[in-house]
Amino acid sequence: MNKHACRACRSRAGRVVLDLGEQPASDYFPRRDDPGPDPVYPLQMWLCSSCGLAQLLADPTVPEEPRGTEPAALVSQAADAVQRVAAARWLPAGGVVAEYGSPHGGSWLGLLAARGLKPAGPADPADVIVDCFGLMHAADQRAALAERAARLAPGGTLLLQYHALSTILRGGQWNALRHGHYAYYSTAALAGLLAAAGLVPRTAWRFELYGGTVLLAATRLAATGAGDGPDDALRSLLAADADLGVGDPGAFTGLQQDIQAHAKALHDWLAAERSAGRKVVGYGAASRAVALLCHARVDRLLLPAVIDASPAKQGLRMPGTDIPVAGPDELAARRPDAVLLFVPDLLAEVRAAYPDVEAAGGRWVDAATLGS
Ligand SMILES: [Zn+2]
Repeated sequence: MNKHACRACRSRAGRVVLDLGEQPASDYFPRRDDPGPDPVYPLQMWLCSSCGLAQLLADPTVPEEPRGTEPAALVSQAADAVQRVAAARWLPAGGVVAEYGSPHGGSWLGLLAARGLKPAGPADPADVIVDCFGLMHAADQRAALAERAARLAPGGTLLLQYHALSTILRGGQWNALRHGHYAYYSTAALAGLLAAAGLVPRTAWRFELYGGTVLLAATRLAATGAGDGPDDALRSLLAADADLGVGDPGAFTGLQQDIQAHAKALHDWLAAERSAGRKVVGYGAASRAVALLCHARVDRLLLPAVIDASPAKQGLRMPGTDIPVAGPDELAARRPDAVLLFVPDLLAEVRAAYPDVEAAGGRWVDAATLGS
C-alpha cells in the first residue's frame, strides 16, 4: 500500500489518530427498498507530523449527499458573522466578492450583496473571498488553498470558516470524521497552511455553531506591515490550540475511546426506552448520524424511523442499517415519547416547528449527550 502523503505539505510522516473501521459512505442514502448490504470503506483520521493538519486518510467514496434544507442555526450564524466582519471593517464598500461554498449549501453572497459587495465573475480576482465550510471538501488541500490565494486582489481578504479541531477534541465529536470531509483544522495548522500559500492570518471570530466554529481573516503576506500580524483574538485561539496539544497524537486518545462509550450509551438508552414501552424516533438524517447508528448497531426495531424535513431524503433509508427516513408528517402520526435529535444545532428550530411533540408529553433528546 502506498504510504499516505499529507494533503497539504506532502510529508509522509504522520499517523492514524482516529479509526472508525469500515463505514458506509455517510452521504450515500440508499432507497428504502434497497435491501443492502451497503458498501463500506475505511474511515480514518491521519495527523501530519510535519504541518499538523488532521485529515481524512483515504476516500474511495463518491459524494452523493442529497442537499438538505439549510438549518436556521446556519442561516442566523451567517448573518451574525457578516455583521461582525463588517463591524470590524473587513468588507470594503463596493468590493468584489468570490465565494467557495460548501456542497451542503449555505451561501453568504446575498448577505454580502446587502453590504454593497459585488459578485466576481468566474475565476476573476476578488477583494473578499469567502469560504464557509468549503475548503474541507477539497482532497488536495494545498492546491485548493493556492487557488483561493491566487484569486485574492491586492489588499484582499480571505475569510475562512471551519469547525475547529479543538471543538471536536474537547466535545468528543468523533463522528465529525466523515468521508468527503478531507481536513479538520486546528487554527494552528491552518496558520501554517496559509503561510505556505503566501497568506497570513490576521484575526478570527468564534461562534457556537457545531459547538465551536471559527471564522478567520487572512491577507497576503506582502500586504502586511509591521504590527499587522495575528491580533489578540487570533493569538488566544492559537494559545488554546497549543494548550490542547492539537498537533500531538496523544490529544486524540480520548476521541477514540469516546466511540465505543457513545455507541454503547445510545444502544443501551434505546433498548431501555423500548423495554419501558416508550416510542422513540430519530430526527435529522444527517451524515453525522450514520457512523453513530452503525457503531451502536441500531436497527429499526430500536429506532423505527429518522424524521427529516428535506424532500430529497424521503423514500430513502439510513446507510448501513434498515432504518427508513420519514417526513415530518410521521412525527405527528407516531406521537413519540422521545425524539432523538442527531443535529443538536437544530434544537431551537425543531422545538418551535413541532410544538406538538412536547404538547403531547414527548421530549427532545440530544443524541450527542447520551452517556456523557
Ligand atoms: Zn502536512
